[in-house]
Amino acid sequence: NESAEISLKDIDQLASNSFPLCMRHLFDKLREDHHLKHGGRIQLNLFLKGVGLKLDDALAFWKEEFSKKVGAERFDKEYAYSIRHNYGKEGKRTDYTPFACQKIISSTPSVGDHHGCPYRHFSEENLRAALNKMGVGGRQQDEVMDKVRNRHYQLACTLTFEAIHGTSCDTGINHPNQYFSNSQKIRQE
Ligand code: SF4
Repeated sequence: NESAEISLKDIDQLASNSFPLCMRHLFDKLREDHHLKHGGRIQLNLFLKGVGLKLDDALAFWKEEFSKKVGAERFDKEYAYSIRHNYGKEGKRTDYTPFACQKIISSTPSVGDHHGCPYRHFSEENLRAALNKMGVGGRQQDEVMDKVRNRHYQLACTLTFEAIHGTSCDTGINHPNQYFSNSQKIRQE
């Protein structure tokens, strides 16, 4: 599912145009809090690797935010390793695969965590607010909430995708990186 390289200067625009809600939420929280806990760092970092952010750019991206909170030195000491590790550059040099929806949906975020799938893990109130922010309101939003109530989280995400892009997504959404590449395909048409 690896696509073309993306450039760090485009990342905010790509996030608002083409990230699924799970990644959008992590991205916004990182920009806001200058910090993410372990589960959020892995979920977002592997996704970014999958969309084509190079390791050097990933390190610069995480460092820019974490430096504002813990300082550059502590970032280099405590956090850079696991960023490189996700990219397969440390330890056993495993090339870790970005998480699919099923894995994200079945994760168990605790208080203060921001990973997981918002359709599964947000309260109704927070999910509705997030959907409003993405421009999905009214009847479209109610249809999304219907799927959520029936525990069809990926269908809820698919409906959101269709509402945002104004086109059908017949394959459905099963992977955040698939959401991203489908979105980019449509945006570039
Ligand atoms: Fe992310 Fe998948 Fe949940 Fe959509 S259904 S928000 S892509 S985990």
